[in-house]
Amino acid sequence: MTKSPKGTNTVCTHVGTLEDKEYKGAASPLYMSSSYAFEDVDVKRYPRYFNTPNQEALSKKMAALEHTEAAMIFGSGMAAISTALMTFLQAGDHIVFQQTLYGGTYNFAVTQLEKYGISYSFTDGWEVSDFEAVVKPNTKLIYVETPSNPLLTITDLRGVAELASKQGILTMIDNTFASPINQTPADLGIDVILHSATKYMGGHSDICAGVVACSQENLDKVFHTAICFGGSLSDYTVWLLERSVKTMGLRVKAQNDNAMKMATYLKNNQDVENVYYPGLESHPGHDLAKSQMTGFGGMLSFELSPDIDVSLFFKHLELIKPSMSLAGVESTMISPTKTSHALMSPEDRQKQGIKDSLIRFSLGIEETEDLVHDIEQAISKTKSMTVPA
Ligand SMILES: *Cc1c(COP(=O)(O)O)cnc(C)c1O
Repeated sequence: MTKSPKGTNTVCTHVGTLEDKEYKGAASPLYMSSSYAFEDVDVKRYPRYFNTPNQEALSKKMAALEHTEAAMIFGSGMAAISTALMTFLQAGDHIVFQQTLYGGTYNFAVTQLEKYGISYSFTDGWEVSDFEAVVKPNTKLIYVETPSNPLLTITDLRGVAELASKQGILTMIDNTFASPINQTPADLGIDVILHSATKYMGGHSDICAGVVACSQENLDKVFHTAICFGGSLSDYTVWLLERSVKTMGLRVKAQNDNAMKMATYLKNNQDVENVYYPGLESHPGHDLAKSQMTGFGGMLSFELSPDIDVSLFFKHLELIKPSMSLAGVESTMISPTKTSHALMSPEDRQKQGIKDSLIRFSLGIEETEDLVHDIEQAISKTKSMTVPA
């Protein structure tokens, strides 16, 4: 763990910037070549080898942000996740997944792993004992997501890391929801950190990318799998992502603040049944979140009263966009049942506590008052159009 002595915003802005030697510009030059010299060079560069100048530069920034030795940039979050999983698993191995996974990762687990002779178990809950209960002699990996999607449950990262290291098991986390601004799992003993950089790192709902961050030793292994699967990111998008990450600290801080204020507002709203946000003292994972996170994040979820039609409510929103994905500067809402968790069976959704009335709310950077006003007017219009039974 190489903890950077610099402040997070300084890291976001400066680490890994490529020097513009020719014109002395402030921004990294963009190198688009897919063909580089192979003679008289230290490194043979090629985009699918994840080592073009822009790819390498951004990797340094990502590693510095996650307090790891090394990192790699991928073409999507799922490219990073699937490559990392297939690096450390082989036929005969077993993996433990935390319950309530990101829908795409869940889909990867249940549709792909069996083909390769890899078995898996899902935990029954989020306690360290729930992980311990499903570990087998051939378990090679424990995979966690905290805060989780969509219910924002909190998993004890120190506890899971300790359990795993005692048994020689590797640990992986999808750190997308927290972002490295709010949580740096390497400091808590987690081995491999994964991101959908499509979310907080990109932050403007216009980039699809992924990250793997870990020790150099583990990254060398990921690299050998990655060049086979070929999930690299084009240099132009790498360059855009570097630009986006410069403001990640500022954006995420504003999103954290908005989420805390909004969670408090929704909790006191009589048209709302439940609010799930780790920043609320009433959240069962609040103390744990405080002990392992530096901010509670910009995501929350809530359930409207059953008498309010969720689809109608979405139609009446004027500012907040009912749209897929999350973590952009603009606030968005989704119904997990219809989007991220649509591939999951209704029984599995029910088991995980994902109700049809659940709304996942990704806070942007707008003024909180404007968001509150939008929700209020949408609820009021929805109620006035709903005929009482
Ligand atoms: C979006 C997301 C992913 C997948 O990332 P893509 O960039 O869409 O491939 C993985 N995990 C979490 C938590 C996500 O939100």
